[in-house]
Amino acid sequence: MKELKINSEGINHSAINLGSLDELKDYSYMHPKRKQEVKGKVFIGEILKSSSAEISFTVFPPHTEMPFFHQHKNNEEIYVVIKGSGQFQIDDSLFDISEGSVIRVSPEGKRTYRNNSDSPLTFLCIQNKMGSLDQFNVEDGCLAECENLWEKE
Ligand code: ZN
Repeated sequence: MKELKINSEGINHSAINLGSLDELKDYSYMHPKRKQEVKGKVFIGEILKSSSAEISFTVFPPHTEMPFFHQHKNNEEIYVVIKGSGQFQIDDSLFDISEGSVIRVSPEGKRTYRNNSDSPLTFLCIQNKMGSLDQFNVEDGCLAECENLWEKE
């Protein structure tokens, strides 16, 4: 099983490198409720010390499917397909997904997905508390003074 490692860390950041997309299958995750090892899945929110989002990467082998539907209590999910293709079902909607697909699901949405193709399906999922983004505009970002370390190399 592949282990996550911190690449760089400071009071204002944490950085990791998951490796290539082809190596994502080497991670695994022990599902705390189902007591079952899930291969090809890695959560990175904790190692990044994220206070606002949980992020996971998943690789689904060809012709596999989630064996259940799930919902969330508080978190909205955004799935981003980064490689491969398959299908999503949310409530009574069934649709195809492929590289570049981005799917937002409200907490109460009953969701499942499958890889009905001959190639691996790779996606990431970002979880945030529904309604937590109460403001977003260009005013949230601002210019900052800092010494440019590239110029010292
Ligand atoms: Zn979920």
